[in-house]
Amino acid sequence: MSEKQEMIRVDKLNKSFGDLHVLKDIDMIVKESDVVVLIGASGSGKSTLLRSLNFLEIKDSGNVIIKGEQVERDTHDLNKIRERVGMVFQHFNLFPHKTVLGNVIEAPTQVKGIKKEQAIKDGKELLDKVGLGDKYNVYPSTLSGGQKQRVAIARALAMKPEVMLFDEPTSALDPELVGEVLSTMKELAEEGMTMVVVTHEMGFAREVGDWVVYMHDGKIVERGVPNDLFDNPKEERTQAFLSSIL
Ligand code: ADP
Ligand code: MG
Repeated sequence: MSEKQEMIRVDKLNKSFGDLHVLKDIDMIVKESDVVVLIGASGSGKSTLLRSLNFLEIKDSGNVIIKGEQVERDTHDLNKIRERVGMVFQHFNLFPHKTVLGNVIEAPTQVKGIKKEQAIKDGKELLDKVGLGDKYNVYPSTLSGGQKQRVAIARALAMKPEVMLFDEPTSALDPELVGEVLSTMKELAEEGMTMVVVTHEMGFAREVGDWVVYMHDGKIVERGVPNDLFDNPKEERTQAFLSSIL
């Protein structure tokens, strides 16, 4: 049996903002087609860790290794790496003056140099896939939050990333719109996309996650398969966190 490839390996990653030590010796491995769910209280460093995985934050020390390649600011084109590691944010950050399809084809045509015709064909397929096949030509302002977030997912996928990062993708949504975004993410996971997801949706973590990682105060306190971590947390910190939210 062949071992799954390591898509991301993080070794002893440290990051500070001024005097604030936000990531403390983080070690993490994300293998091909794994869904890793990051949980933890606000301020524990989840977003900073996620942003470090596609080099929106630059580490102070340690390593981030993408498919066996140690990525450094001096030796790598970080924009190229960011094409391989897509990201979806809490706030969708769509271009308001572009149509839905315009949003999706922007980066492939402008950054990757894909021909417009091809980008349109691919973009329509992606929008069909996220259930927005009837919205190609509307503007984001006419969409619900759940629809906007699905456009943001299609837009990230349009770059054909190898890994997708999600930072609280449903936290800004009205409760009735959360489900449609989570099911889009679940489908993506079932297709084998490698994903790292920060979320407070513990149902999603349990159902879709292969691994759950609990962070507290810049450190990884505990990690495990969802059923173990949720039903049988080993660390007191994890127990306290889970009982505060469940
Ligand atoms: P989480 O996503 O778990 O809520 P963050 O990674 O956003 O946590 O933040 C961790 C800590 O780092 C917090 O104390 C936050 O205020 C601080 N922080 C995050 N980004 C910055 C920044 N750009 N400058 C200064 N402090 C920051
Ligand atoms: Mg955050």
